Amino acid sequence: MKNWKLRGNSDITSASTHSIARVNAHVKTHINQSDQRPIIPLSIGDPSIFPCFRTDQVAEDAVVDALRSAHFNGYAPKGGALQPKRSLAEYLSTNLPYKLSPDDVYVTVGAKQAIQIVLSALRRPDANILLPKPGYPAYEALSVINHLEIRHFDLVQEKNWEVDLTGLQKLADDKTVAMVIINPGNPCGNVYTRDHLKEIAETARRLGILVIADEAYGHLTFGSNPFVPMGLFGNIAPILTLGSLSKRWMVPGWRIGWIARSDPDGIFEEQGIVECIKRSLITNTEPATFIQAALPQILEKTTNDFFVKTVNILRKDAVL
Ligand SMILES: *Cc1c(COP(=O)(O)O)cnc(C)c1O
Repeated sequence: MKNWKLRGNSDITSASTHSIARVNAHVKTHINQSDQRPIIPLSIGDPSIFPCFRTDQVAEDAVVDALRSAHFNGYAPKGGALQPKRSLAEYLSTNLPYKLSPDDVYVTVGAKQAIQIVLSALRRPDANILLPKPGYPAYEALSVINHLEIRHFDLVQEKNWEVDLTGLQKLADDKTVAMVIINPGNPCGNVYTRDHLKEIAETARRLGILVIADEAYGHLTFGSNPFVPMGLFGNIAPILTLGSLSKRWMVPGWRIGWIARSDPDGIFEEQGIVECIKRSLITNTEPATFIQAALPQILEKTTNDFFVKTVNILRKDAVL
């Protein structure tokens, strides 16, 4: 087998450099055990390792009941079963001026797979994507894998990490497919005002691009700005909202998330993007059926006390 050779370099090599988990593992293996200095635990953002963060019992019961029923042991339909999609549409329509339908939402294996599905659906020859700097490294990694050229726009620290919209407009051209915003922000912790989100939507409209709104930390806010969903501005520019149970419910290991399209004017349908998302879902795997089956109970019955308690702990421990 000496002459056997795989030609060319793998994209996965450069894609995997964009990984917090990888850096974290690297740092851990290089800690000098004889060094007495205290170690700051820079984690990969998994709240479930802290005993004060346990999900609501309603959510645990929902999963146990779904599992015990023996009705949810089979393969789930691609993009999610009707019941979870219906309850997600309901949950994500709260505070929107229009109602999302079950057809506007897709169930995914966490928000991470939602990113993968959306980026692969947007893949075109020579396409580019506008990503925030600082940002969430999965976008860089998955853009590389999906052959989307990365162009970074700045978040302005002095303006509470708002998007530098003037700079962003200079980066875009006729091959730009989308811009990504992360709100509430990871890693900066900013929460955008309604006015700023509206400006983002207006800029996207002017540029003729769609907005991918990563709301993995949706509702987990404790400062002066309330969380405003980007979907509110779907009538200005088409929006794909990504989210999951991972952070708000503190269960990243349950691997359930979603994509929602806020597009009252039907641009996604017209441009064939809906079809691309569906095809991308077909080539991917879906979340465990019993977790999907538990979703309606979780979204509808989780107690407000649980959410309030979580936010209070975060507020108390945050160094503002
Ligand atoms: C945690 C996180 C994700 C991934 O969420 P999962 O549901 O665990 O896949 C995506 N985007 C941001 C900004 C995150 O913080």
